[in-house]
Amino acid sequence: MSYQPADDRYATMPYRRCGHSGLLLPAVSLGLWHNFGHDVAYQTQRAICHAAFDAGITHFDLANNYGPPPGSAETAFGQILASDFKGYRDELIISSKAGYNMWPGPYGEMGSRKYLIASCDQSLKRMGLDYVDIFYSHRFDPNTPLEETMGALDHIVRSGRAMYVGISSYNSERTREAVAILKSLGTPCLIHQPSYNILNRWVETDGLKDTLKELGVGSIAYTPLAQGMLTDKYLNGIPEGSRATQGKSLKKSFVSEKAVESIRALNEIALGRGQSLAQMAIAWVLRNEGITTALIGASKPEQVVQCAAAVNNLEFTQEELTAIDASANE
Ligand code: NDP
Repeated sequence: MSYQPADDRYATMPYRRCGHSGLLLPAVSLGLWHNFGHDVAYQTQRAICHAAFDAGITHFDLANNYGPPPGSAETAFGQILASDFKGYRDELIISSKAGYNMWPGPYGEMGSRKYLIASCDQSLKRMGLDYVDIFYSHRFDPNTPLEETMGALDHIVRSGRAMYVGISSYNSERTREAVAILKSLGTPCLIHQPSYNILNRWVETDGLKDTLKELGVGSIAYTPLAQGMLTDKYLNGIPEGSRATQGKSLKKSFVSEKAVESIRALNEIALGRGQSLAQMAIAWVLRNEGITTALIGASKPEQVVQCAAAVNNLEFTQEELTAIDASANE
């Protein structure tokens, strides 16, 4: 199967400015956390990436440890880059991260300079790239001076390994500190990657969303579909093959009777808007300028197509927002 990108790939996807930077990101981005390891057929992985690029999704988000086994998602994506996206590197934004456990011993996780720079080199090798567009500190490390972690990010940019840097899951206070250090080093923090969806609003209660807006840092909301719970997948039980059956990050217990009641109520609101629940959940995350892009995952190309079409209705009435809040809290 040889791949030719769709000619109309830039026709419908909006591109939104990432904070106070020059970089535009697609309203919907694709993450390769699940479904890009050795447990999923390579042809499916290719088809998912093709569907994304054809829909104008120019941003692919990876991390050193995505798989299983860790590293295999970057290797698979490297293959796809070499075979299918060859010649399109300058149309793509590719991200990677380091922070979680990647190799044995004291230098294979967290936030030291030793780990971040070595891990970035490994990621580049697996993907066959000279540079990534965005490199992240995947999590805050309480035992490493923040100056060291941010200094490593600055070095990664200055040495040509990345074009921009970001941080993931740092709270509002740590974000302020990290952004100030990066600014003093002359490498601005482009983006923050927090979890955010209708059922998980910590970025609002923590104040992170307002902080990012104030500081001019962009943001990419991960798990906008609550790992599939904010779709029509679990309305009538847990279907075979779904993430909840795989015993990974989405436990069966999360899909409780109470949660399904909320999901059913949210589904009704989505249908009233002429959208699927997945589409409404993505639109909700994007409903104001605080969030630059919604970072989805997918196990099938059709899911990507449906999610990308969320951009056809990004507006909400106050009544809809109130009904969503009430359903989420049911
Ligand atoms: P989502 O909340 O988007 O969940 C994705 C899952 O939802 C899919 O695997 C699929 O489930 C289901 N789904 C997607 N589209 C549809 C659809 N149209 N209809 C029905 N079901 C659908 O995000 P993820 O949890 O996958 O996370 C997305 C990305 O966020 C990751 O790949 C990663 O890049 C990033 N991330 C970052 C983290 C960090 O610490 N920075 C942590 C976690 C994620 P199924 O597989 O059951 O079909």
